[in-house]
Amino acid sequence: MELKCPDCGETIILDKSFESGELVICENCGLEMEIIEVDPLEVRPLEEEK
Ligand SMILES: [Zn+2]
Repeated sequence: MELKCPDCGETIILDKSFESGELVICENCGLEMEIIEVDPLEVRPLEEEK
């Protein structure tokens, strides 16, 4: 699976074993995303708590 980082546009390759609820981190900008759905792929960026 491939995912485009919503922040920097970097293509992130996801292992096929990823499931909804798991976290993905963009290696380019460090943005954390939670996988909402895997088919079709949908992610939600995590907001850092202040
Ligand atoms: Zn990014």
